[in-house]
Amino acid sequence: MAEDPQDWEIETQAVRGGLARTPYGEISEALFLTQSFAYESAEAADRRFSGEEPGFIYQRFGNPTTDIFERRLALIEGAEACRATASGMAAVQLSLMGLVRAGDHIVAGRALFGSCRWILSEWMPRFGVETTYVDATDLSAWKNAVRPNTRAFLIESPANPLLEVTDIAGVAQIAREAGAKLVVDNVFATPVFQKPLALGADVVVYSATKHIDGQGRVLGGAILGSAELITEAYKDMHRHTGPALSPFNAWVLLKGLETMDLRVRRQTETAATVADAVAAHAKARQVVYCGRDDHPQAAVIARQMSGGGNVIAFDLGSREAAWRFLDALEIVDISNNLGDAKSMATHPSTTTHRSMPEAEREAIGLTQGWVRMSVGLEGARDLVRDVTRALDRA
Ligand SMILES: *Cc1c(COP(=O)(O)O)cnc(C)c1O
Repeated sequence: MAEDPQDWEIETQAVRGGLARTPYGEISEALFLTQSFAYESAEAADRRFSGEEPGFIYQRFGNPTTDIFERRLALIEGAEACRATASGMAAVQLSLMGLVRAGDHIVAGRALFGSCRWILSEWMPRFGVETTYVDATDLSAWKNAVRPNTRAFLIESPANPLLEVTDIAGVAQIAREAGAKLVVDNVFATPVFQKPLALGADVVVYSATKHIDGQGRVLGGAILGSAELITEAYKDMHRHTGPALSPFNAWVLLKGLETMDLRVRRQTETAATVADAVAAHAKARQVVYCGRDDHPQAAVIARQMSGGGNVIAFDLGSREAAWRFLDALEIVDISNNLGDAKSMATHPSTTTHRSMPEAEREAIGLTQGWVRMSVGLEGARDLVRDVTRALDRA
């Protein structure tokens, strides 16, 4: 029996999924930096363009290196199809624009990445698409927000920056009943710890910039779902509006995928240790970590996530204390990115979430004392020492 890559463990899929070698038999995936492709004859070009003959036409439509990345990520995600994009935001924007038209309505969790919120609040209304924001942890709020013209639901779970978790299966059922598609931004959970499609979601989006690269180099994104939905809702839009991923970035991300599982698991182990150290420190008023039993949605996490991830959030009571903490760090960088090999911490109220109106920040509990930390691959003892010393000085 031939091996079916769908039956492989994630570690095997991450290293060998989608592999397509040239006649040279290279071990490491080839990087095809080419914009276009030559055809053997005019007739061959005709067949290629008509779709009669498979093959590549132009980098905006597809590329052999990008193709391996898409196949590999789809395999890991358990999705039939994947379209890679130039950034995570290109993926989020495409995932929504492909589902709605003027006059339609979207329901979204209110704790969302800043740029996702901008798309819904500032961009979509220009095209006649309205959004209702709900407390994503409250299933009845989703149900009550549905209108006859609701076409899409968007959730980020765990959400940035306070790691609010949404019951994906519960929301998926409400979306199905409403005739709307559920899009899940799965960045914080990573494909290692959460499979939204298996929980009933229709579309999964990633910023590959985060854990998939994992080494702070390139931007990238992906949109995954059934072959039918990807073809119907996204394929033409992706080809003609131009959010294609650069093959160079696809190659970097492919190599990132090879070690993603290893990295994310080690980061998660270390994050659990750091979260416990922060929780034990007198300066921390509250710690939120998806791997701790005291997470407000621990029961939902137990059902839908197989690991806590590498991001933790903690409240030091005031902006002054949070800034003193950040400024006292010696190993951990002050930076707003996440999923990197290097640990970094940020003050969301004055950085990633500064454009969110104060009242909305308060509604999600994001007061000035909160710090968000992305735990990297440094040694756990070094990180605990650095964080504890900075907390002492907070
Ligand atoms: C970073 C991020 C994005 C955007 O990704 P880019 O690659 O920066 O465009 C979207 N959603 C979440 C949850 C993110 O963390």
